[in-house]
Amino acid sequence: MAQDSLRRLASDLKNFLAAQDEDEFILTAAPKRAAAVVSPKRQPADSLPQMPEGETLTVEFARAHQRIPSASEPQTELPANTPAAVQAAKPGAVMTSSQKTAALAELAETIKNCTRCPLGATRIHAVPGEGNVEAELMFVGEGPGFDEDRQGRPFVGRAGQLLDKMIAAMGLAREQVFIANIAKCHPMTDPLHPEKHGNDRAPNAGEIACCRKYIEQQIAIICPKIVVALGGVAAKALIADAKSLSALRGKFYDLHLDSVTLPRPVQILATFHPAALLRNPGWKKDAWLDLQMVMAKLGLKSAK
Ligand code: SF4
Repeated sequence: MAQDSLRRLASDLKNFLAAQDEDEFILTAAPKRAAAVVSPKRQPADSLPQMPEGETLTVEFARAHQRIPSASEPQTELPANTPAAVQAAKPGAVMTSSQKTAALAELAETIKNCTRCPLGATRIHAVPGEGNVEAELMFVGEGPGFDEDRQGRPFVGRAGQLLDKMIAAMGLAREQVFIANIAKCHPMTDPLHPEKHGNDRAPNAGEIACCRKYIEQQIAIICPKIVVALGGVAAKALIADAKSLSALRGKFYDLHLDSVTLPRPVQILATFHPAALLRNPGWKKDAWLDLQMVMAKLGLKSAK
């Protein structure tokens, strides 16, 4: 039995690698360069808002006091900033599809108007996230990049196209999952020159601390079975562990959130960010092994 499973795994891996060679997996065409757009909201650096006083400026990793309730244990407490649609839902119960849709729309509006951290002053569009409200699988990256800032949608550049291929290799379509980021606005190394390419950076600890309630509420609303953290920044923030990505990969963790209580247990697994896979194609086979762990949990069959 075990040998059959191993043989099947080896066969899947072989087929995947054969089909996803470099030409197929990495786009060879230069990405279309969007025309430079300067947001009317952009402000000089010296007028950028500062972190709100009293906000936590570091990511809190120690959450040993928190726990995930059992599926049968009703929850009654909701944070003050919870969307109205969430508050209207039965405590401790997963929301209906229409409640999820309303809650996510309300949250997206809040995010689009948010200026809680300096990224709100330099973004073109906030990128709340998108996908299926009934998704069993959710992908969470670190933050929007150049293309995402211009389109207001997550993972639409080269890395996004690779993510689409990874999702397809799992036997799913992008429309069947939910895709979002920890930070909802574009972190730039040089915010005074937003038209520059190669201007992306990871959100810093203060930006993550300001923004994390949004991704936590999205996860609680959708309540997927599994969250896949794409890259070390998302993995460390959501798994609440300062270990490196390579130390965090290869196992599922129970997801614990700071600001909301999950109506049922959700598991999280860390893998490479697609942008890192574009830079290091040799890591794709390890990423595929991670995705196969998710597929086994969800009962998915490889598309190959
Ligand atoms: S990154 Fe998050 S906290 Fe900062 S302005 Fe955007 S939505 Fe608000």
